[in-house]
Amino acid sequence: MSFANSTSNATATATAAAAGRCDTLIRNALVIDGTGADPVAADVAVTAGRIAAIGQLSGWQAHATIDASGRVLSPGFIDVHTHDDTNVIRTPEMFPKLSQGVTTVVVGNCGISAAPVSLKGDPPDPMNLLGKSEAFHYPTFASYVAAVDAAQPSINVAALVGHTALRNNHMDRLDRAASEPEIAGMRAQLREALEHGALGLSTGLAYGNAINAPTAEVLALAEPLAEFGAMYATHLRSEFADILEAMDEAFRIGKHARVPVVISHLKCAGVENWGRSGEVLKALELAGKHQHVGCDCYPYTASSSTLDLKQVTDAYDIQVTWSEPHPEQGGKMLKQVAAEWQLDLHAAAARLMPAGAVYHCMADDDVNRILSHPATVIGSDGLPNDPLPHPRLWGAFPRVLGYYSREQKLFSLAAAVRKMTGLSALRFGLHERGFVRQGYWADLVLFDADTVRDAASFTDPMQPAHGIDAVWVNGKLAYRGSDKKATGERAGHFLARSPRTAEAGQAFAHD
Ligand SMILES: [Zn+2]
Repeated sequence: MSFANSTSNATATATAAAAGRCDTLIRNALVIDGTGADPVAADVAVTAGRIAAIGQLSGWQAHATIDASGRVLSPGFIDVHTHDDTNVIRTPEMFPKLSQGVTTVVVGNCGISAAPVSLKGDPPDPMNLLGKSEAFHYPTFASYVAAVDAAQPSINVAALVGHTALRNNHMDRLDRAASEPEIAGMRAQLREALEHGALGLSTGLAYGNAINAPTAEVLALAEPLAEFGAMYATHLRSEFADILEAMDEAFRIGKHARVPVVISHLKCAGVENWGRSGEVLKALELAGKHQHVGCDCYPYTASSSTLDLKQVTDAYDIQVTWSEPHPEQGGKMLKQVAAEWQLDLHAAAARLMPAGAVYHCMADDDVNRILSHPATVIGSDGLPNDPLPHPRLWGAFPRVLGYYSREQKLFSLAAAVRKMTGLSALRFGLHERGFVRQGYWADLVLFDADTVRDAASFTDPMQPAHGIDAVWVNGKLAYRGSDKKATGERAGHFLARSPRTAEAGQAFAHD
């Protein structure tokens, strides 16, 4: 760097003042910038929340200097698929996410969001994953944005609006199609949300409270999205035998609405569906020739949600994580509960409901193939209100780095980081985030590539990851790995949807 050598005096003074001093200087890091490029040894200077300079910054002064020798510095991880809607307000430290290096969460997935929502009683399934009725206070999207800002979470928050949440607001019962006036009411609320920065619309068409919504209902609801440059994200109507038909429905909705489609937690679920990931990814690639499509995936072979009778089977293990009428059964295998009660699996499940479950419903090869695909970014799908959460809540991102990249060698470390940062930011329109780039927001994570790994397991799931040394959010040090503690800095922002840039076109390229 040669700021001091500048020939113009005016420039020299101006740059020297800006250049020589910064809030935080991270020295001797191996920088993985989020583009997929190989690591580069560099110093990174942070000032006023942003990355001020990257390079050999030996002459720089800083309030805080960190020697990052032997460590990787990358953009903070972007968790594109979360159900943290009410937790970013109720538990703003967001420790399960912060401690794994996550600096931004996208909430409002799978058709369920905390806003805009007016409940008539208990939240309908699976909105109960977001909390009990007391957790829902946001009749407008604007009120949700204000609540996030007031709560000052430790990480940034961007939000989709859920189709099932909108149905809840306008329909007396959810086991039928919405009428035209009901769809009009839902659209008006979606529009209010988009005006206040929502990223787009999500659906969870597999769930009982959305499955009777015909495609036409979603087509009509999705129409305002294009005008706002928004997107459509979907938990498919089926992840089992009918997955190709369900993908086709998603692509039709995206085409009709003229917006990008993100397939949430793409998987081949159910034993009879194992081995179909090649076929499924081919369908995604084919659609990608004509429209913007992509997917996210969590790095595990087990799924988790509310307990669903349609998914009860003896073909693989199902673990009960919570049960409202029988909390004492949480943690047991459904098989074991059924045996103790001398019931068949379905009868036992029905008696446990409302309940939560982990389903060991996927094959390794399918998960490996989907995770590796260039269209795939990482989302945890963690369930923060589950007393025995699927370990993805605490471990998804370090598991991609440790288990899938370092141990299984599915992809390089730089490729792994891109799936968790740059590609995610471009796809979800998170402006000036996702890359270590001068002028961008300083959302950063420092980690040890040799030791980083998830510690959370199915039996002991609330464990911070190993190997995460430090996490900065908007330039503030929010997590220190030396004692695995949050620093108390809560510098997260609500991130409104930003206009799609030319670079964003890459977000849906499949190579
Ligand atoms: Zn889902």
